[in-house]
Amino acid sequence: MILDYSLRTMKKIAIIGAGAAGCFTAQRLLELRSDFEVELFEAQNRPLKKVAITGGGRCNLTNSFEGVNDLSEVYPRGHQLMKRLMYGWNQWDTMSWFEEHGVRLVTQDDECVFPQSQRAMEIVSVLKRGLNIHCDKRVDLSLMDNYDAVVVTTGGARNFDWISKHGIDIIKPVPSLFPFRLESTGLEQMSGALVHDSVVSIAGTKFKACGTTLITHNGVSGPAILRLSSHAARYLAEHDYKAMLVVNWLGDSSEQEALETIQDIANGNMNKNVANTYPDSFTSRLWMFFCQRAGIAADTKWSGVGRKQMNRLVSVLTSDSYQILGRVPHKEEFVTAGGVSLRAVDSATLECKSIKGLYFAGEVLDVDGVTGGFNLQAAWTMANAVAQAIAAE
Ligand SMILES: Cc1cc2nc3c(=O)[nH]c(=O)nc-3n(C[C@H](O)[C@H](O)[C@H](O)COP(=O)(O)OP(=O)(O)OC[C@H]3O[C@@H](n4cnc5c(N)ncnc54)[C@H](O)[C@@H]3O)c2cc1C
Repeated sequence: MILDYSLRTMKKIAIIGAGAAGCFTAQRLLELRSDFEVELFEAQNRPLKKVAITGGGRCNLTNSFEGVNDLSEVYPRGHQLMKRLMYGWNQWDTMSWFEEHGVRLVTQDDECVFPQSQRAMEIVSVLKRGLNIHCDKRVDLSLMDNYDAVVVTTGGARNFDWISKHGIDIIKPVPSLFPFRLESTGLEQMSGALVHDSVVSIAGTKFKACGTTLITHNGVSGPAILRLSSHAARYLAEHDYKAMLVVNWLGDSSEQEALETIQDIANGNMNKNVANTYPDSFTSRLWMFFCQRAGIAADTKWSGVGRKQMNRLVSVLTSDSYQILGRVPHKEEFVTAGGVSLRAVDSATLECKSIKGLYFAGEVLDVDGVTGGFNLQAAWTMANAVAQAIAAE
């Protein structure tokens, strides 16, 4: 059944969910159409609770995108939609908007953008300024009876029944951005060690990510692992979070390149213990762990390392395998992959194809990004698209 709510004059707008996407939709709408009445309904006792804890309380509100060659690298789901909508609102628009609203920003060396104050609450107060927000109000699509347009910005959730019962297609939600719990191998005893230039992948798949890997007390985390978990979110969920993790601890070095690196170290240090001479990217403890994994004792001199041991060491360094036993809940940042199917909405306006006057924006849609400010940028970009569409009606 096609319901047509667009015949009435577009005046009263309801937004369900006063999070990042909801508040920004309202701000942009009121900037574009000050004659509109915009009300937000928030299930919790205060708006923007999640934004307040983003980026560890500092709010990584966007990214310069300088290191991004293709949006599919940072948006495992929804990159084509983001490509289209970012013509209307990109990272520079986000930065200008916040700066025009009094927030000074800094772009870190890793391209992540934060408020100079390092306080997420500064972003919260700018976003909620001047808005009419009803807190402690969990509402549903029955609001459509009383408003000219309804925007759903309810974020990632487990339960989408209240949306799907209106015939709207939902892609099964699964978690994204999580560390891995690994089978015990002794690696966990290196907890706290970082390897900055690593490449991690899931054996037997094309899922791959690079960057820093952090060794934890029960597995691995860090930007490279979170990125991998994001790209492989659905695959891992379907495999009950059991898979083989393959790590190249030397970045994208091939076996031959790694052999040459290690051979150079060996040639220059023939009379020294293997334990004492190693690539700069490792701590000595981590190096010893790799040597032990390759069957080389700590007090072996480089001159005593045979061809087979050398090959085993190269193999440990470039294609080390660990059994993933599960997903570790991540407190720092997590998002939901899945949600309202992109096929259910118009890709320019984000209006529901089957219910006129109903719009979706933010994590409630099947769009999510890797860490680095990409998820909030998605919220701002989608919110702007909806606001522009409603304002133009
Ligand atoms: C700990 C943590 C840290 C993060 N840090 C970053 C970061 O630094 N940078 C980044 O880019 N991303 C970060 N993210 C991800 C980012 O916060 C989300 O992608 C973003 O908040 C999504 O915005 P949203 O408006 O779609 O959803 P939300 O911000 O989740 O807002 C949805 C709102 O809707 C309300 N709601 C839900 N159902 C109803 C209902 N039926 N009626 C009324 N209200 C309802 C909820 O209470 C909530 O307030 C982080 C996430 C977490 C969990």
